[in-house]
Amino acid sequence: VEETLVLIKPDGVARSLTGEILRRIEAKGYSLVDIRLVQPDRSVLAKHYEEHEGKPFYEPLVEFMLSGPIVAIRVAGDRVIEGFRSLAGTTDPTTAAPGTIRGDFGRDWGLRVQQNLVHGSDSPESAARELSLWFK
Ligand code: ATP
Repeated sequence: VEETLVLIKPDGVARSLTGEILRRIEAKGYSLVDIRLVQPDRSVLAKHYEEHEGKPFYEPLVEFMLSGPIVAIRVAGDRVIEGFRSLAGTTDPTTAAPGTIRGDFGRDWGLRVQQNLVHGSDSPESAARELSLWFK
């Protein structure tokens, strides 16, 4: 069975959306395999976001991810990588489709980083790499 890493980012935890997001994952029929509340250090985030290093939003993104606790979840199910990204909606929360997590609960806050509530791995390679990073 395929697995993915889902993160509820600091904005999602701070806005008390953890239960709602877990509910949507479970309602879709995926299984929660492991879950933890994490306050990651900078080195974990640097590895997690290494592909974005040097981009204009990189530093604000890392600072945002350090701003509060994150919920890390190992989720399993057939085609769960693609399926969770579909539940999450597109990156920009302002235009993400209603019915998705980002579309229903996200918006633009005029900040330098998109605070879009969740992360989901984007490929089997990313999922393996990210799961080993967040679930050591
Ligand atoms: P995630 O990887 O978190 O699921 P994603 O795959 O939709 O999101 P990526 O392109 O991997 O998006 O970007 C990682 C994160 O960086 C985004 O979720 C968002 O928080 C932030 N981000 C991406 N692009 C921008 C941008 N142009 N301006 C501000 N923030 C951005």
